[in-house]
Amino acid sequence: MLDELSAGADTVVAFVGAGDIERDAEAYAKVLRRRGDGILSLDLPDLVSSRLSAGCALRANEPLARHTTLGLGGAARWYAEPANVDDIVTLLRAAAELDLRWFALGRGSNLLVPDEGYDGLILHLDAAHWGAVTDLGEGRLRVGGGTRLKELCGFAAREGWKGFEFLEGIPGTIGGSLRMNAGAMGGWIFDIVESIEWLTPQGRVRAARRDSFDALYRDCPQLHGSVVLSAVLRSAGRDEPAAIRARMDDLAAQRRASQPREASAGCVFKNPEGDKAGRLIDLSGLKGRAVGPVSVSPTHANFLVNAGDAKAADFIELMRAVRAEVKSRQGVELQPEIVALGREWKELL
Ligand SMILES: Cc1cc2nc3c(=O)[nH]c(=O)nc-3n(C[C@H](O)[C@H](O)[C@H](O)COP(=O)(O)OP(=O)(O)OC[C@H]3O[C@@H](n4cnc5c(N)ncnc54)[C@H](O)[C@@H]3O)c2cc1C
Repeated sequence: MLDELSAGADTVVAFVGAGDIERDAEAYAKVLRRRGDGILSLDLPDLVSSRLSAGCALRANEPLARHTTLGLGGAARWYAEPANVDDIVTLLRAAAELDLRWFALGRGSNLLVPDEGYDGLILHLDAAHWGAVTDLGEGRLRVGGGTRLKELCGFAAREGWKGFEFLEGIPGTIGGSLRMNAGAMGGWIFDIVESIEWLTPQGRVRAARRDSFDALYRDCPQLHGSVVLSAVLRSAGRDEPAAIRARMDDLAAQRRASQPREASAGCVFKNPEGDKAGRLIDLSGLKGRAVGPVSVSPTHANFLVNAGDAKAADFIELMRAVRAEVKSRQGVELQPEIVALGREWKELL
């Protein structure tokens, strides 16, 4: 019907009305864009610039290597640092209209960025806007989705709240740690979660208590494709700040002794049931094995480190070699723990 009315070069189609009229307009624009007949040539900034807050950054062709601990890979077509929830909703709606895929980026400490980069929108919750830690009393802390675990640990130690020590030294953010169910020293972050607030891909804010989530080994399926806005975490009670700090320093020293200092994405492979991926890689004689500037760390065999100017292709080739060798020597097929931006591991390995 609209098509018949709008046939003709100089037709203007206006959607005028209240309620969800904007959505109808967006749906029609999407149909036109899908058809690819060149009627609409808007890109992301055209759709969002007038609606984003002044504090929201939006950049094109952003190199992503600097946003990851591994320090390699290509650029993102679009990169945004939203300043509030409305910014994220605006960006998600525009991405849906443009059929643009998107990805929530934390510290990029468990992430491999492919050499071709990411033909979509990266949403990064930065610490400046999403890094607040609020003491709610009785050992409950509300923590912004972009808060670095290091900041959380510092806050807890200063305020005398124990129970966060095991997170010391994990270089991620709250959002990334919940999505990955990060853990160390026998503890998982979900052990201390009371509730989580997140945004659905449709741009709806949701909140739920801990028992609504499956906390799996390095995974929380309910948070796939979401944007974690904040979480309420629970302390194990009061202690002297100096005692808490001492325990954190102790754990940091253990990490320094057992993990490499070079650029990495942390443990590359998941530990198989009842074993350690690092032990199997070491047993297979792979410490020091290299592809270009990427090598299996002699300090911890489950860390593949980047000595400088590595390509993602080097990293992937070494992952393949390690997997093949461990499979043939130990009979175990290692599964990746790290996330490949915009790609499935089954395509890459
Ligand atoms: C030296 C080193 C040591 C490490 N040690 C440990 C360790 O002891 N234990 C451990 O578990 N991990 C460890 N890691 C891995 C990593 O730090 C954790 O997995 C961390 O939780 C990832 O958080 P991130 O913010 O960096 O997430 P990213 O790497 O940015 O992203 C990882 C996943 O989380 C998602 N994500 C990020 N932010 C959000 C958000 N706001 N909302 C929704 N999803 C989001 C991403 O989309 C992606 O799927 C280590 C890494 C390094 C480099």
